[in-house]
Amino acid sequence: ATKPLAGRVAVVTGAASGMGAATALRLAADGASVALLARRADRLEELVRTITSAGGRAIAVAADVTDDEQIAAAAKRVAAELGRVDLLVNNAGVMLADPITDLRADQWQRMIDTNLTGVLRVFAAFLPALVESAEHGTADLLTVSSLGAKVTFPGYSVYGATKAAASYLSQAVRGELAGKGVRVTAIEPGLTRTELADHVDHPELSAQLDGMFEAVPALAAEDIADLIAYTVSRPKHVNLPTVMILPTQQA
Ligand code: NDP
Repeated sequence: ATKPLAGRVAVVTGAASGMGAATALRLAADGASVALLARRADRLEELVRTITSAGGRAIAVAADVTDDEQIAAAAKRVAAELGRVDLLVNNAGVMLADPITDLRADQWQRMIDTNLTGVLRVFAAFLPALVESAEHGTADLLTVSSLGAKVTFPGYSVYGATKAAASYLSQAVRGELAGKGVRVTAIEPGLTRTELADHVDHPELSAQLDGMFEAVPALAAEDIADLIAYTVSRPKHVNLPTVMILPTQQA
């Protein structure tokens, strides 16, 4: 039988670990050619080997979403090697937690540059291809936002603000692109076991996160990949604008 995503050309940012890696694996298994973007080239190369040895097609494109030139160069390489992109998963992100009174402007800036400006930079690099793809078939633009876009958590004010912006942007862009036939989706996950929490350097908030992972069975990165694979394999006229996905026991 033909695979559900056969013939499609996907880009997944943040594909070096967690949800991005799981999503890249899944899209490739479902038949898409996949460009893997993140900073850690070794991780990407390893994932390419895994996908290729399973009979799939993938390329590793080491790039930093906070760098204009690297992202523009990445888009050129993807077009040259895989063809016109029709599926973008804007997933790269960082979560750095600190009480707002600590005034960690360095961490705020990193989250804004990655989770918001980075998302916009990647939009800009691939949007023309998506619009053109929609004229010829199906085109999907997904952003991995967060439950934090909707709910506030102490210590996560700036992270939540970047995710609220990402969800807002996705909804607004959906309105602008609806007439062009590009499907736009924001995915808002709850607690998911990945490397995300490893970057929290505030001891109490880090311990609190560990406690949350002990308290409820969290989602796996593969659960998010499964949702994304479902979303992009609907018939062309069906769009899921915003999807929240939570562990059953997360209140
Ligand atoms: P991971 O830390 O495992 O994955 C994040 C990915 O983003 C890594 O592959 C990392 O690769 C990449 N990345 C980070 N900064 C950059 C950058 N500047 N340029 C390019 N790539 C970058 O965590 P998750 O899988 O959990 O995170 C994926 C998304 O899911 C994030 O947007 C996160 O905010 C969101 N999310 C996660 C939740 C969770 O509970 N885990 C809940 C809700 C949302 P590299 O370091 O090699 O660049």
